[in-house]
Amino acid sequence: MQDEQIFKLIQEENNRQLNGIELIASENFVSEQVMRAMGSVLTNKYAEGLPGKRYYGGCEIVDQVEQIAIDRLCELFGATWANVQPHSGAQANAAVFLACLNPGDKILGFDLSHGGHLTHGSPVNFSGKLYKPFFYGVNKETGRIDYDIMEETALRERPKMIICGASAYSRDWDYARIRKVADEIGALVLADISHPAGLIATKLLNDPLDHCHIITSTTHKTLRGPRGGIIMMRHNFDNPFGLLWNNGNPKSMAAILDAAVFPGTQGGPLENVIASKAVAFAEALSPGYKTYMQQTQKNASVMASEFMKLGYNIVSGGTDNHSMLIDLRSKGISGKDAENSLVLADITVNKNMVPFDTESPFITSGIRVGTPAITSRGVKEAEIPKIVELIDRALMNREQASEISALRKEVKELMGSRPLFTWE
Ligand code: PLP
Repeated sequence: MQDEQIFKLIQEENNRQLNGIELIASENFVSEQVMRAMGSVLTNKYAEGLPGKRYYGGCEIVDQVEQIAIDRLCELFGATWANVQPHSGAQANAAVFLACLNPGDKILGFDLSHGGHLTHGSPVNFSGKLYKPFFYGVNKETGRIDYDIMEETALRERPKMIICGASAYSRDWDYARIRKVADEIGALVLADISHPAGLIATKLLNDPLDHCHIITSTTHKTLRGPRGGIIMMRHNFDNPFGLLWNNGNPKSMAAILDAAVFPGTQGGPLENVIASKAVAFAEALSPGYKTYMQQTQKNASVMASEFMKLGYNIVSGGTDNHSMLIDLRSKGISGKDAENSLVLADITVNKNMVPFDTESPFITSGIRVGTPAITSRGVKEAEIPKIVELIDRALMNREQASEISALRKEVKELMGSRPLFTWE
């Protein structure tokens, strides 16, 4: 039996990716070898447990694969412990919450409506349903994290865990300050670096592993690997909750986190995806990846200034990383309308709440854009003004079908002949 229906759709999706300008900040294009590992026979293997300690026979080879993934990840971030099994970023966070918190415990995270993530305490997510969330946000004038409010809230509410990291925040983080506040109240610090992970690994941004107890990330954004999650620590430590082994020795956080992944929140690991993560980590350890990350950052910085030249309002006035949030209120267009108009021109972005937004999450006043994906396709900073011009024309002429279809042709001319992945 040949499944023509699904493979035809995969081909159509391939063409969509090839002919468009992909600016969703959380997306990327992976290399051929990352994809090959993912589509391998490793998908056939059950391997509950950890390398050398499995609940199934025949794991000698996947044990090697998983250990290589762990070792490469530790080398990449200067960690001494890592778990590469989380199926996604949300799963990595779920495991950390299970390991560190009891239902009803207080947590302090970055407000979703200011750029935070659902899994950092949103009421529609397990993190907001099972735990008691408090939030910090950005300063209305500067668009940057208000660390004074974070500190004030932490000292008043005394959360058991402070979470930093974001889905839509274009500035670097002051991890040292967050850790200092956490130490005053005996809280743990979780840094979710899903978005800027690649920039952190290549030392282009501050290093959260220097200051935060536990780090989570996705592997498919700037890290340019398969869809998945990871958990890391620079230093393992005895758990502060008084949990003991049968022999009376304290349990290490590493052991508690491993158990929170399996059997705590997951079953069998996806060894094909873990192999693919290992390939992506090797790529990220190669010199070419740092060049890729520098280009991604440069492209984002040029993009922000080109938008500002055309009168667009970038939250916080620029970017330190790979992404930016554009507040479209000054242009009189909603995030939803902007997203829809751009899709018609084969330019993909996502609508996004801006800080202090007056629209609902279904409409929003902004869009989020990022450069990891176009940079993987070989776009350099000289081409960014053209891309911003195409976006501006699509938004300004959104009622004119003929202009939009002309734009689509221009987008295809710009992108259609480039491979999806052009890096060594
Ligand atoms: N954490 C942050 C900061 C994210 O931006 C995301 C994804 O957008 C996640 C966690 C969740 O990752 P996943 O979609 O793999 O569950």
